[in-house]
Amino acid sequence: MASQNQPDYDVIGIGAGFAGLALIHYMREAGFSVRVFDKAADIGGTWTWNRYPGAASDSECYYYCLTFSKELLQEWQWSVRYPGWEENLRYMHFVADKCDMWPHIQLNKEIVRADYQEDTGHWQITTADGDQCTCKYLVSAMGMISQPVIPDIKGMDTFKGPCFHSARWPQDGLDYAGKRVGIIGAGATTVQMLPVMAETAESVTVFQRTPNFIMPAVQKPMTAEWEQEIKEHYDEIIAKCRNHVFGMAFDSPVGRNLADTPPDEVQRIFEEHWPQGSFRFVFETFDDLLTNPESNRVAGEFVISKMKEKVKDPEVAEMLTPKGYPFFAKRPPLDHGYYEAYNRDNVKLVDIKDREPLVEITETGIRTTENDYELDIIVLATGFQAYTGAQEALAIRGRNGLLLSDKWEDVSASIMGVFVADFPNMFMITGPQAPFANLPTSIEQNIMYIVDCIKKMGDEGFDVCEPQKEAEDEWVEHTADIHAQTLMAQGDRVHSWMMGANLEDRKPRVLIYFGGANVYYDKMRESADAGFPEVEFERIA
Ligand code: NAP
Repeated sequence: MASQNQPDYDVIGIGAGFAGLALIHYMREAGFSVRVFDKAADIGGTWTWNRYPGAASDSECYYYCLTFSKELLQEWQWSVRYPGWEENLRYMHFVADKCDMWPHIQLNKEIVRADYQEDTGHWQITTADGDQCTCKYLVSAMGMISQPVIPDIKGMDTFKGPCFHSARWPQDGLDYAGKRVGIIGAGATTVQMLPVMAETAESVTVFQRTPNFIMPAVQKPMTAEWEQEIKEHYDEIIAKCRNHVFGMAFDSPVGRNLADTPPDEVQRIFEEHWPQGSFRFVFETFDDLLTNPESNRVAGEFVISKMKEKVKDPEVAEMLTPKGYPFFAKRPPLDHGYYEAYNRDNVKLVDIKDREPLVEITETGIRTTENDYELDIIVLATGFQAYTGAQEALAIRGRNGLLLSDKWEDVSASIMGVFVADFPNMFMITGPQAPFANLPTSIEQNIMYIVDCIKKMGDEGFDVCEPQKEAEDEWVEHTADIHAQTLMAQGDRVHSWMMGANLEDRKPRVLIYFGGANVYYDKMRESADAGFPEVEFERIA
């Protein structure tokens, strides 16, 4: 332990995924001592926990990566457009090895509490095995979508076979070949998992409550020519991400609205873009799909028509048809053969919302109001407590012992998803009320902002960085105003995690800044340039 006035580290980061690795790089470069803890046995965050079959990034590889080193960008070789979890993990090991990050990383260490110490302005963290250490700055690098939601289903503990959340996939793998698998949930995870599992499982039964609008991923190998083109244009790619509304290397806005385009031309444009795959369909066709209800309806109908071309059984297609909510009010998954999987004899879809509600899990499977499904394995692909879950899973106590989870009981307030009033010297990377965007882009932008703040503290001899309540109120109000103008605000009707509406014990809330990631990055720059007016800097006498 260091002396009272000298913390063990300048910075402690919790989480060793993309955010933790980037934190090490930027803090070390700025001359700060940094230690990153993770409860997992490996680095990788999402990619170490979500080892389910088919798990892959939905952002394209060449911008779903860290950009702080030209060498890293030039040396690493991706094999496909959307790398699977194994390849993403290999990439992260490559980053950690190449940048000599391992001495800063402590794995298998779960932080269970973090306490702000009023007398020193430091944070004290405590691990599950009782170790303690201190830092001047605490940084949450725990990820936006990392805390699983485990449903409360009657009889769940009676099931004789493996039953686990998709984000707690057995780290040594799971042999499901020849087994009868049940998946509860039909979100992005299931959309990736089903086609792969169906290839070797005896059967896969999906228990679906709400169908999604699903767009094609269109996986493809990385060719030598494509790789060369990417590597020759990295500066432009990084700039595109920095200036895009969702932090992605897309060519949008396109400067046209569906509302002003003749119907034939709309269909032509949609048909032209659909086979290209990815989220490009939303961002590179028209600029009003997420704001104009009629334009959104037309796009949603096009998506449904494409699903109906693939699914042979009209009854199954009807069950897969999203109804009663706008396209993108739930985050649309990308399809790698999901719809075709329903044409297989060993795949079954069960509508547990309208046709046969789920009653209980039994020793041998799942019982609905109509049937008993005999199963060997049950996967709970039931989603996450997004944006706040990871921070709330440990006891983070700020001024006067205020617990962060209590502060967020009704409103998950922050300043730009980075600062929280009453939690001095604490920063979050992509916390609540930050945008939903290509994560590596947001992570690096957040960290550069945090580094600037910490540098100012050091340069000017401050001890405490105190986020201001008025600035927090302003950001909360601004974020809510923008949210109300988007169609995503209707996500509470369909349990969208984007509003925390998937949590049974919490009210839906505004979790995402929808004013544009690019606008948000500009706001952070303006704040840093203006000396962080949202924060009061103090000295401890
Ligand atoms: P999700 O989209 O929240 O889907 C959870 C599913 O579980 C939904 O179908 C939900 O039904 C169902 N569910 C939840 N509680 C239930 C209950 N008690 N009984 C029955 N069904 C229940 O979760 P996810 O599929 O894990 O994806 C979450 C997010 O993670 C994605 O949107 C994405 O941002 C991220 N993700 C990314 C990737 C990628 O980029 N490659 C892959 C996977 C996930 P309702 O819809 O009716 O609530």
